[in-house]
Amino acid sequence: MPNAAQNPAQPPQWDIYVIEYARAKDQPIASLVNGTHHEGVMDTPFSFVLARSGQRNVLVDTGFMREGIGEEMSVRFGVPYWISPVRMLEEMGVPADSVTDIVLSHAHFDHMGSIHKFPKARLYIQKSELLSWHEAMALPPQFGFLTDIINPDDLRAAFDASVEHRLTLLDGDKDNLLPGLHVRLGSGHTIGQQFVILESARGRIVVSGDCIYSSRNLTGHNHNGVYVPLANGIGSIWEQLKTMDRINDEIGGDLSKLIILHDAARWEHLPEVKNIEGFKISRAS
Ligand SMILES: [Zn+2]
Repeated sequence: MPNAAQNPAQPPQWDIYVIEYARAKDQPIASLVNGTHHEGVMDTPFSFVLARSGQRNVLVDTGFMREGIGEEMSVRFGVPYWISPVRMLEEMGVPADSVTDIVLSHAHFDHMGSIHKFPKARLYIQKSELLSWHEAMALPPQFGFLTDIINPDDLRAAFDASVEHRLTLLDGDKDNLLPGLHVRLGSGHTIGQQFVILESARGRIVVSGDCIYSSRNLTGHNHNGVYVPLANGIGSIWEQLKTMDRINDEIGGDLSKLIILHDAARWEHLPEVKNIEGFKISRAS
């Protein structure tokens, strides 16, 4: 297929892949979706997205490395199944130093925990996301709940990228951050969470970040259409539901256009490109 990104007469189109790289074992569903205390446990997938167009290799989030604090956190959060996100990209023919851009949905360790592995990439994150974590980290220890899912080494790596002029702090929605890649502020799970829209041959695909954990957040319990809050977030429920409504508007209620990074049901219908030791790479475009 001709590369539309190089033809100004056509909208740019991204080749989009969902890369699973880890799985939590026996995680209570009630820790993800509000109001599910009677529903037991599930193995929760962890994933990120590779989007390719022309010379650009873009990541939406990066996964985490099992090194130092990242290793401690993977144990604490019950993630026994893991493969290096760097290796998963190499399996796709994308060595780390060929990643050009990284759009971060938010700063939790499982979403930005390997940014230090991509020394040439430009990073994009909402200003309110990064700076709110700096503020939260500086609070006394009794506020530790706020930063429970933050690896301080990731914030240090983001600061290093700032010093190297490789970090862009966004201030809300932005169309065509990169051609055919749009970001939207999606507060609720965290203060400056963002979700990402990618133009593709299959239309506009939305990567939810952790604005949504399960399709049930949108469809409601028993498909009653009432948005269900996350069971895990530091922003307000009000903001969470407004963000879910923005995403629902964007996909026009078509869940096949939505990639939820912690919900394998949202990509199991997609064609499998590769399977590395049980971890799937699926094509979403
Ligand atoms: Zn998160």
